[in-house]
Amino acid sequence: MKTLPSGSDAIYDIVGVGFGPSNLALAVAIEEYNASLPLDRLDRRLKAGFLEAQPRFGWHRGMLIEDATMQVSFLKDLVTLRNPTSDFSFVSYLHEQGRLVDFLNQKTFFPLRVEFHAYFEWAASRVDHLVEYGAEVLAVEPVTDERGEVRWLEVTSRDPAGGGTVVRRTRNLCVATGLEPHLPPGTALSERVWHTSQLLDRAANVPGGPGAVRRAVVLGAGQSAAEAVDYLHRTFPQAEVCSVFAKYGYTPADDSPLANRIFDPEAVDVYHGSPQNVKRSLDDYHRSTNYSVVDMDLIESLSATLYREKVTGRRRLRMMNVSRIREVQDGPEGLSLTVEYLPTGERQVLEADVLVHGTGYRPRDLAALLGDLSKLCERDDEDAVRVGRDHRVATAERLTAGIYLQGATEHTHGITSTLLSTAAVRAGEILDSLLARSSAAVSGVG
Ligand SMILES: Cc1cc2nc3c(=O)[nH]c(=O)nc-3n(C[C@H](O)[C@H](O)[C@H](O)COP(=O)(O)OP(=O)(O)OC[C@H]3O[C@@H](n4cnc5c(N)ncnc54)[C@H](O)[C@@H]3O)c2cc1C
Repeated sequence: MKTLPSGSDAIYDIVGVGFGPSNLALAVAIEEYNASLPLDRLDRRLKAGFLEAQPRFGWHRGMLIEDATMQVSFLKDLVTLRNPTSDFSFVSYLHEQGRLVDFLNQKTFFPLRVEFHAYFEWAASRVDHLVEYGAEVLAVEPVTDERGEVRWLEVTSRDPAGGGTVVRRTRNLCVATGLEPHLPPGTALSERVWHTSQLLDRAANVPGGPGAVRRAVVLGAGQSAAEAVDYLHRTFPQAEVCSVFAKYGYTPADDSPLANRIFDPEAVDVYHGSPQNVKRSLDDYHRSTNYSVVDMDLIESLSATLYREKVTGRRRLRMMNVSRIREVQDGPEGLSLTVEYLPTGERQVLEADVLVHGTGYRPRDLAALLGDLSKLCERDDEDAVRVGRDHRVATAERLTAGIYLQGATEHTHGITSTLLSTAAVRAGEILDSLLARSSAAVSGVG
């Protein structure tokens, strides 16, 4: 099995924690930078390594529904907004696959999700020498020199080759560990109780097979919940599919052109420079571009299904709006769910074979990953980590090793932080920051 170099003679310029699209974009930016150096400047190459917990590259595999499309233009791929001439672009990928003309004829900006996943895999395979899979990072620790300065960090990860761990030393860290499933308190996942992130795998292995499912219930009113409703309705042909949510109806995603500018690189400048109250109001105004919203096409399609079933009398799709699930009993024969209709408080018990939580995601605990290092990170009045415009965490003076964040920066860089929109540009900004700081160190500046 291939592993990245470790040991005390292998000091990295940067180690990336997690290898989803964000750190993949960074790996590509570093690869392109290293390849661009003339022969007499090869000493300027950055030594980079990325550690990924999954056994191979995977981007939301549980939601790779065959006909689901991207919610971002293909031009917001891993590179184009940073370097439109890069051969790591989605267009280059299509060209290599012999599908460029076919894609063009689709007249769309929004490729299939499975196709973008294949594009990510293709790009990841081209920087495979920079990545170790099956290498969950367990701890990051400061390494202090004789003057008390923390110049390096030690990153401990699982050894994919065995049960042990591997330690690597680096001058900079880039944490891009994404979000984790959010579940209502007390939820116990099981073969019948799932989160949407598990959808495809769980549906393929449902107890008794798809034909045995008589009722599936989906909780939530966001894009993933609506996709799960649609998918289960098609996949379990005998089942009633109930969509339970507190709203009256799904809210459409605002993808109008002017609101969409909130995802522009320039909007990140504006957001980062704004006072706290302006940041909060921008969040509130533009939540509907991303949170608890559903693509209009999907809303219309589900509404058409509801009506069609009303006409034919074979009703399998059921919207249980203004409702909440109050109790879940998971027994050997199936589930028993108590659903409350909020306007009246009336409760009914539904027997179900499957319950899917479309309850979204939440940030991972950065402090748990950083351990004692966390104490050296500066915090704002709300106890959130301070992050510079260059995505580097502001730290105590004696910590000179760099900690960069991708994803966990909504509070400093705005709503686009957890999305793909600025991944390419952000990777370039992190690279620029690394280079500026390493040349300042070489010339003794700063
Ligand atoms: C179904 C779905 C569809 C989406 N579609 C879009 C879309 O169309 N457009 C858009 O802009 N956004 C979309 N998003 C938002 C999504 O967050 C981004 O697309 C993207 O995944 C962010 O990339 P990332 O690399 O920051 O995080 P992730 O893609 O979440 O990658 C993080 C990686 O870190 C790894 N990891 C975590 N902890 C550790 C650790 N301790 N050690 C090592 N590895 C670790 C994880 O295994 C994972 O591979 C979608 C989200 C979902 C759930």
